[in-house]
Amino acid sequence: MNKWFSIESEDKLSCCNCGDVFPKNIGGLDHHPSICTKCGIECVLFEWSKLVQIHTQAAPSPIRRFILWAQHELDELEFIELLSSFEELGEEISNKS
Ligand SMILES: [Zn+2]
Repeated sequence: MNKWFSIESEDKLSCCNCGDVFPKNIGGLDHHPSICTKCGIECVLFEWSKLVQIHTQAAPSPIRRFILWAQHELDELEFIELLSSFEELGEEISNKS
């Protein structure tokens, strides 16, 4: 644990800071700030093929600044569009390598 992110595994998402398992139906799955109810860290929880948690303060500075930018500049739909565009790009890159 104590990474800056956590990715759903075996149908469960555990907090990257304290390891506590998030409840099954986490509310507010978007790029807006969430809080781990166990350890209180601020994070973003979103769905990107799998559930993903990013611990905002522990993330590398460019990612932290990117998240802050997205929170201010993008709405939920634009954020989803951004993720699916990155995904499309990533898939193309993996297919070509
Ligand atoms: Zn936690």
